[in-house]
Amino acid sequence: MAVTVLLLPPVTSAPPDYLAGAEALLEGPRFVRTRGMSRWHRPRSGVRYPERTVFDLWCGYAVGGSDRASAYITADEPPAGEPVCATCEGRAAGAGQEQTSPTGRQLLFSPRHIDPPKTCPGSRSSDLFTELPGGRAGLCLACGDVQPLRAMGGPYNPRYAIVQHPTGRGLVPPCPFHRWRQLTARNGRALCACGRETTP
Ligand SMILES: [Zn+2]
Ligand SMILES: [Zn+2]
Ligand SMILES: [Zn+2]
Repeated sequence: MAVTVLLLPPVTSAPPDYLAGAEALLEGPRFVRTRGMSRWHRPRSGVRYPERTVFDLWCGYAVGGSDRASAYITADEPPAGEPVCATCEGRAAGAGQEQTSPTGRQLLFSPRHIDPPKTCPGSRSSDLFTELPGGRAGLCLACGDVQPLRAMGGPYNPRYAIVQHPTGRGLVPPCPFHRWRQLTARNGRALCACGRETTP
């Protein structure tokens, strides 16, 4: 039974069209590399497409392909004498993929774009709210808080929007690919523009 590690969400700026049929992987191999790589790397996130699986590595490289046997190889522990990418090893440990740090010191690494934003992603949106009776306040579809509605935009393109506000406690679950950055309103709910609504 192969050892797996928890992966981070595969946050991307790729437009939703590029992610048709893509599934964010929750777990992946502990070590991975292609046959051509000079060292073992560690996966940060993984995406399964209809025809292939791709792992993004902590150091910035990626491995993957349609034919798993030739695209990459995996290991629970690299064979003795084979080098491991230091960037991958340090970041994987610092981000919590390992229980113990390779140096014995406490390592910290905080990946960007993972935590909920301090400013609600519904801020200044003209569609991410449900107007409450009276028309002066709206229920934010992103975070669930009630906030004032204001006229925004210039005289030539006025729009009615919910004001900028801190993220409320009822923030919707993030899209595994776009987090909270591409929320749109559909049928009175906030969904990611790619159609996904919950994190794995
Ligand atoms: Zn690496
Ligand atoms: Zn909000
Ligand atoms: Zn999305």
